[in-house]
Amino acid sequence: MPARTGQQYMKGLSEHPAEVWIRGERVDDVTTHSALANGVRSMAALYDLQHNPATKEAMTFESPSSGEPVGLSFIIPTTVEDLERRRVMMTHWAWESCGMMARTPDFLNSAVSGWAGSSEYFTANRPEFQDNVLRYHEHIRENDLTLTHTLVNLQRSRNPSVFDKIEDQIALTVMKETDAGIVVRGSRILATLGPISDEIAVYPTRTHLLGEDAKRQAFSFALPCATPGMRFMCRESLDLGRSNFDHPLGSRFEEMDALVLFDDVLVPWERVFLLGDVEMCNNYSAATQPTAHTGHQVVNRTVVKTEFLLGLTSLMAETLGSTKVPHVQERIGEIVVYLETLKACVRAAEADAKPNQWGVMCPDQGPLTAARNLFSRTMYPRMAEIVQLLGSSSLMALPAEADFDTPIAAELEKYLGTETTGARDRVRLFHLAWDVACSAFGGRQILYERIFGGDPVRNAMLLYEGYDKRNAMDRVQRFLEREG
Ligand SMILES: Cc1cc2nc3c(=O)[nH]c(=O)nc-3n(C[C@H](O)[C@H](O)[C@H](O)COP(=O)(O)OP(=O)(O)OC[C@H]3O[C@@H](n4cnc5c(N)ncnc54)[C@H](O)[C@@H]3O)c2cc1C
Repeated sequence: MPARTGQQYMKGLSEHPAEVWIRGERVDDVTTHSALANGVRSMAALYDLQHNPATKEAMTFESPSSGEPVGLSFIIPTTVEDLERRRVMMTHWAWESCGMMARTPDFLNSAVSGWAGSSEYFTANRPEFQDNVLRYHEHIRENDLTLTHTLVNLQRSRNPSVFDKIEDQIALTVMKETDAGIVVRGSRILATLGPISDEIAVYPTRTHLLGEDAKRQAFSFALPCATPGMRFMCRESLDLGRSNFDHPLGSRFEEMDALVLFDDVLVPWERVFLLGDVEMCNNYSAATQPTAHTGHQVVNRTVVKTEFLLGLTSLMAETLGSTKVPHVQERIGEIVVYLETLKACVRAAEADAKPNQWGVMCPDQGPLTAARNLFSRTMYPRMAEIVQLLGSSSLMALPAEADFDTPIAAELEKYLGTETTGARDRVRLFHLAWDVACSAFGGRQILYERIFGGDPVRNAMLLYEGYDKRNAMDRVQRFLEREG
């Protein structure tokens, strides 16, 4: 099947319903449920871009097996031009949600494509796993399936010494192997997009390395979300059922995060990619570099999101008549610096990309890691703060759309207009600022950007451990020893 349309994506979700729970209710159909339907529609719009004459060529490439146009994020990049082409495609998708939907399918498509290009790695675990990876990549590419992923176990305690006491486990664990496959039980936190995805990938993460005894927690596999025994437990929806005017982001871009509970779920053998080998699970990320590809998507999306915030804050200043105020200029200038830094990191990652040992062109992780660290720790929380500081009490002067249809509308028009902008336009703009920086939707965005790539402490530890500091240290040593 060539690249899907939005309608085909929605049909797939309705015809293969996963077990999704929200606020005490089991969801019948995620495409019509009020908590999720608008997010589904936004996802469908992404698939439609693959058929829009203006974007189709940028969004697809010729399938190596069917010859049909398929989604470009399924490409196994072998040249820098492939990466640049993929970035253009990712940019189209990121702008559809102004960077607010982070787990658009390009995130995982590029990771699985990276595995496929490096599929030989998996043979050392079991020879048939290489074929499993290759066939899975072809399956999701040819059917244009939407993936979620879940990597981190729920924990009862953060004391590492308790983590492999199997009878107390709540971590996802292999309970038995059968002729049909492996049976897994346990829980994972989280799967963003899970309730509105077709497939779930479950694999190890470099941020939570497995202890040497954790053989039964060492695996990588993928399943349809509608597999029996698997449940998605949603947080409350951030789509409050308001209009696009009142709630411009939450009413459109609810991508939903869910816990995933596995109650003796059968994973067929052909869907298993790694099993029982702690070392292979712990090394797989360094060897196959999926984070180079997901990082390319992430940092490119943060460019889009930052440019969106630059536009938003600039319009806010123009509307309030504060464009000549020095500290307003300074704050917006700070966002310009962030934007240019992020753009430079994406381009540097492409320019310094190198093929891995299997010929997959991997963006350079150095600038991507730097950008991800800066964005999650500093840039995004600070930009949300700038929106609050610039918006100030205008973020409270927010009559709803319906208020402009009441007897007090004339007063609203009179008092809420500014020198540059009419009342309705000012209020609509500041509803957007509210949704970015103050609403529940905005709060979740900040939490997401801070944490989705692992907790900052462990990430900093990984960076310290993994970064080659020898050359820098040698230079200092040579300077200390310099005479004169
Ligand atoms: C909005 C959102 C969406 C997400 N989406 C996904 C997703 O789609 N897929 C997915 O797999 N994951 C997802 N995650 C989960 C994310 O990967 C984890 O939250 C992250 O890895 C941190 O794990 P944790 O929440 O269990 O942290 P915790 O272990 O609960 O950490 C809490 C705090 O304790 C500290 N801490 C605890 N133990 C240690 C330790 N041993 N060493 C150092 N510090 C420690 C941490 O620094 C942190 O500040 C998402 C998270 C969020 C918030």
